[in-house]
Amino acid sequence: DLEHPLENDVYEELTPLLQGIDVQNREKEKAAEMRKEFSANVSHELKTPLTSISGYAEIMKNGLVRPEDMKGFSERIYNEASRLITLVEDIIKISKLDEKSIELEKQEVDLYLLVREICTRLAPQAEKKSIRFEVSGEHVSYNGIRQILDEMIYNLCENAVKYNVKGGKVSVWTGNTLEGPKVIVEDTGIGIPEEEKERVFERFYRVDKSHSRENGGTGLGLSIVKHGALLHDAKIQISSNLGKGTKIELIFGGDSRKETDSENDR
Ligand code: ADP
Repeated sequence: DLEHPLENDVYEELTPLLQGIDVQNREKEKAAEMRKEFSANVSHELKTPLTSISGYAEIMKNGLVRPEDMKGFSERIYNEASRLITLVEDIIKISKLDEKSIELEKQEVDLYLLVREICTRLAPQAEKKSIRFEVSGEHVSYNGIRQILDEMIYNLCENAVKYNVKGGKVSVWTGNTLEGPKVIVEDTGIGIPEEEKERVFERFYRVDKSHSRENGGTGLGLSIVKHGALLHDAKIQISSNLGKGTKIELIFGGDSRKETDSENDR
């Protein structure tokens, strides 16, 4: 009789633990599944440019190219090789995020200044398409991993340029909101179809394969944004209108949010 309640206690104590293990196992399985899919995709993505490079090189090696076509052939090899470099760099970034092997040192980052810096870096790319940047809002100090915040915002701004139209505009806003520090990147570009709005955050996912290829996209940019958001407890909101433009918001949680909340409680 005495043992019974004890057993119950033990059972009650164990149940959530066992459920926890179950959840952990399922998460592990899911992670393993994702890794498998990732490696399959990686092999495919690496093979495509490598096959072109070796194909072009073989034709040149066999002396089958007319002298006037040599430049075009070397250009194609060069472009495919550049694409490979970007791809490998992105894959390394992603695996680092996966392992969380980057020094996870947080520091106060002024998101407004970071945005300005990023826009300056992207200016040459924007100028080529006569796209203008408009940065507005206020200084926001956020305690995060600078390198990753930089990559996240850079990828969003770069996409806003890449998938924009000639003479278009990229508006970036930073500020404190009730939800927390926020960065909004809005463009006047080609937009994303409604049914693909969530999928673009998947690894290697591209809406228009040929268009992205022209732009040198790897399909990894937004998945880096998603990973970075997870690491920072940030939310991502996306809205888009085909042919009109896209708006992506990063909403950061954490300390600064609490400050804002308590200010509002007063
Ligand atoms: P990529 O390297 O191809 O740009 P991303 O992961 O950054 O890869 O984006 C995935 C896909 O989402 C892109 O190939 C593009 O089709 C679409 N996309 C991303 N950002 C935008 C945007 N601002 N406007 C329109 N389409 C976009």
